[in-house]
Amino acid sequence: MTESATELKRFAADVDAWMAENVPTQPDFLLPLSFLEVGTEQQLDFLRQWQRTVFEAGFLAMHWPTEYGGQGADPAYQAVVDQALARYNAPILFNTIGLNWVGPLLLDIGSHEQRLRYIRPILSAEEIWCQGFSEPDYGSDLGSVQTRAVRDGDDYVVNGSKIWTTLGNFADHMILLARTTPNLERKYDGLSFFLAPMGIAGVDAQPIRKVTGEYGFNQVFFTDARVPAGTMMEGEGDGWRVAMKTLEYERGVSAGQASGHWIVSTQIDDLIADLKGVQRDGEPLFQDPLVRDDTVKLIMEARAMALGRKRMTVPALNTDYPMGLALSSKYRGTEYARRMKLFGAAMQGGHSALYVDDPGAIRGGFWQRAYFSNFGATIGGGTTQVQANIIAEHVLGLPK
Ligand SMILES: Cc1cc2nc3c(=O)[nH]c(=O)nc-3n(C[C@H](O)[C@H](O)[C@H](O)COP(=O)(O)OP(=O)(O)OC[C@H]3O[C@@H](n4cnc5c(N)ncnc54)[C@H](O)[C@@H]3O)c2cc1C
Repeated sequence: MTESATELKRFAADVDAWMAENVPTQPDFLLPLSFLEVGTEQQLDFLRQWQRTVFEAGFLAMHWPTEYGGQGADPAYQAVVDQALARYNAPILFNTIGLNWVGPLLLDIGSHEQRLRYIRPILSAEEIWCQGFSEPDYGSDLGSVQTRAVRDGDDYVVNGSKIWTTLGNFADHMILLARTTPNLERKYDGLSFFLAPMGIAGVDAQPIRKVTGEYGFNQVFFTDARVPAGTMMEGEGDGWRVAMKTLEYERGVSAGQASGHWIVSTQIDDLIADLKGVQRDGEPLFQDPLVRDDTVKLIMEARAMALGRKRMTVPALNTDYPMGLALSSKYRGTEYARRMKLFGAAMQGGHSALYVDDPGAIRGGFWQRAYFSNFGATIGGGTTQVQANIIAEHVLGLPK
């Protein structure tokens, strides 16, 4: 074993010991399954405290530079932590938009001052971030967004509305895509990108209820909100390029995220364990050959995706451009999770229809809630159909 492998193994043992001591027990209220469903102050306070604890232990963004709050370590160290967080069923690191898209974006193209100002409070969860891209009439067609930002002295005056804004009602800052110049020949050229404060006059976030009955996203209204011109990232008219870079981090096409632990772990092995007691026609469920067949297919897919993720970490195996594996990972991962969770709920026989809080529900209705919740992941960050278009055109070279 090389010296670095020995060191990593020692580190993994330390992380294990820390998790055993520090991962909190489940509180007496329901925690969200992912960062997309933080709906109450109680959940927020709990998750904020937990993220702070992980950060103070030095287990967050370990591969980021030390001057901005990281540890300057190899990314393999953060991967060890993320695996342990999942193994210990730890609460999620909820400030995901900050941790996994704003942080890497700032490290990539932000100024030193912007990094100093924003990154540490993202890691400590003192400042929460949201993303203001989608609008009521423009989601997939993001280049057409209409929210206007008009320069007036040292500010831009913003009017319009963003929607499906995850964490919008709790956020301190928004990455905001707004139109600074209308009616250009190329619609993309009129957009600018702001690190906009949320606590200013004229910004109003209204929570929206989801299919799971939970909250988590909002409609945000801007009425003559004065966003400081100094919060613009890159220049006026560069917004589209910055937004596309952000989506690379959001979709996992570019590496550098602070942590992958933003969703409660749902593994096929856990699903099988949860269904072990279920009977079908008086026999254990897994004696049914069709159920066995479907289960094995799900196991194989899970193994294939795990190997794909491993392959993505080996530079020599990622020489194709654009990287097909990385580009298709959101598409495959979110669609697989949806099918797997549906299987988990549908195989419960008479228990399938029981939802969270029903005393008779298997594992408290976990798989039912996870299934409904998963639709968000197949839509947010670009829908399954739009991802399929991107793969078809950019990886397979098919015509538009
Ligand atoms: C849980 C959740 C959280 C979200 N959080 C945020 C957030 O924090 N910030 C933010 O800005 N946005 C957020 N979104 C919004 C998300 O990015 C959009 O919903 C998404 O981009 C789709 O846009 P739309 O809802 O307007 O649907 P539309 O674009 O109107 O699409 C409707 C349907 O048409 C299909 N379609 C559209 N265009 C094409 C095409 N060219 N080819 C084939 N099919 C097509 C779509 O796949 C979809 O099925 C979130 C969404 C969800 C569900």
